[in-house]
Amino acid sequence: MHDLKPVEPCQIRARQERAFVELMRRVLETNEFYRRKYDEAGVPLQRQVGISDLSQLPFTTVDELVADFAGSEPDGSNRTHPMSRYIRRYRAPAGAAVACSFDTAESAAWWVECWSSVIESAGIERGQRVYLPLDAGSLAAWGVLEAVQKAGALVEAAIDRPPEEHVEALRAGRADVLIGSLQAVEGLVEASKDLGVDSEELPSKVVVHSLPVGVSLGAPLRRRFTRWHSACYPVALDHHIGVWGYGCGRSTGMHLHESEFIVEVIDPADGSAVASDEQETWRGELVLTNLGRPGNPVIRLRTGTQVVLTRQACRCGCITRRIEEWSSLAS
Ligand SMILES: [Zn+2]
Repeated sequence: MHDLKPVEPCQIRARQERAFVELMRRVLETNEFYRRKYDEAGVPLQRQVGISDLSQLPFTTVDELVADFAGSEPDGSNRTHPMSRYIRRYRAPAGAAVACSFDTAESAAWWVECWSSVIESAGIERGQRVYLPLDAGSLAAWGVLEAVQKAGALVEAAIDRPPEEHVEALRAGRADVLIGSLQAVEGLVEASKDLGVDSEELPSKVVVHSLPVGVSLGAPLRRRFTRWHSACYPVALDHHIGVWGYGCGRSTGMHLHESEFIVEVIDPADGSAVASDEQETWRGELVLTNLGRPGNPVIRLRTGTQVVLTRQACRCGCITRRIEEWSSLAS
């Protein structure tokens, strides 16, 4: 499952094809939301659908997901299994576009696997001490706690404490690594300054997740946290999509989790696929399909995020494409 090793693009493609055919088989059988959507669009529901058919499927928009929730409370209709198969319902904080998402035991394990790629990429391992300040953003980061434990590191998690208490806990626990949402990490850094804490007493490494679209990646992000100039690992995730991007610390930007997501880049004006230029760079709107959450999938979701992607070699050896720049199309 992990795409950190220098696998070939054809291996990723084969994995995507298998997962996508299985996803579509299940969805076309029993997912009310997508069956209705595809039926209206004239997509035949009775045949096998593979990646070569992807461009024939209509996009999904956030507005559609929101309207579906509003129209069929309490759980919406984007579910592939009977409700009894689900073990987790996530309600996003007020203001988030998509209200709820659901996991089965299998997709809960998928979150852990996706996080394990991040943890491995950031070099978090047995013998290290990891501090996890949990807040509303962190709850969207399901699986991170289990993934850190799986790596064999010693983890201390604390929920809903003021930033000053987190700083005290970090110092008392001699944490090597801090993993938190951007909001939590920024709060903690501010509190440490207010308390006059020497930055050397803070962990030597930080994993920052739940980054809002448009937050600068690479050097500007690291400058934001001078303590972690050379050890800052950004992570892009959404509760209704999954952990879809992460920085490896060896280049700017974030790798896309291409073994777990089908990534497309389109012209936002007409929805047509954007081809790469000679430098293998793509510019356009990011469209994502998650492969590990068939019970509550997003298929060809228009993210509303304008990206610049590259396949130029990364010093970490991973060949998946990277996001070099991103911004919100709405802004
Ligand atoms: Zn890399």
